[in-house]
Amino acid sequence: MGDRLGDAIADRPDGIDFAPGIHGSVRVKLVDQLKALDLKPSDIDYLAFSHWHIDHTGNANLFGDATWILQRRELAAATGPTPPPFESLAPVSAYRNAKIRLVDGDTDVFGDGSAQLLLLPGHTPGHQALQLRLPHAGVVLLSGDLYHSREARRLRRVPKVNVERVATLASMDRFETNAARTHARLVIQHDPRDIALLPHFPAYLH
Ligand SMILES: [Zn+2]
Repeated sequence: MGDRLGDAIADRPDGIDFAPGIHGSVRVKLVDQLKALDLKPSDIDYLAFSHWHIDHTGNANLFGDATWILQRRELAAATGPTPPPFESLAPVSAYRNAKIRLVDGDTDVFGDGSAQLLLLPGHTPGHQALQLRLPHAGVVLLSGDLYHSREARRLRRVPKVNVERVATLASMDRFETNAARTHARLVIQHDPRDIALLPHFPAYLH
């Protein structure tokens, strides 16, 4: 239980301490959020991850019916002899029986530019960001864990948990060039200030 950040935490009124100094709590389960949209996990066609750190994979096993889009090098590292720290296979074990689309590098999910995975390695071997092109909101970039805060971005700080520093710095350069070129709206997913600016569920950017 202590190795994942998922819906099971909602059953614990006080949440859990799943790493020193890191407290996890879930107020509304993801399954219930989907229900509010009239969806169930089996309605989801594609699943992709920024990376396989345990705080990004908590509910993955709900989506065993989806096609899992996986960076080959992330999968190889996680299943290799010395997996990166904080990459546990338990929360993603459904990959073994799921349909898998194995990719190397940037990936245009639907072939129309509306959802692109940008391979930005360094934090983990197959770390990636998500670039969405939305009809009204325009280009939205989800940073994954390239940055954990606005300050980290401003100061170009490599995360403490990181596998390859030079690669992370190159990924930051590439990410910033892309953000400037596309005039993207940036969302740093670990920064509560960026999350607070998003529409409140069930409203969404569109
Ligand atoms: Zn991470």
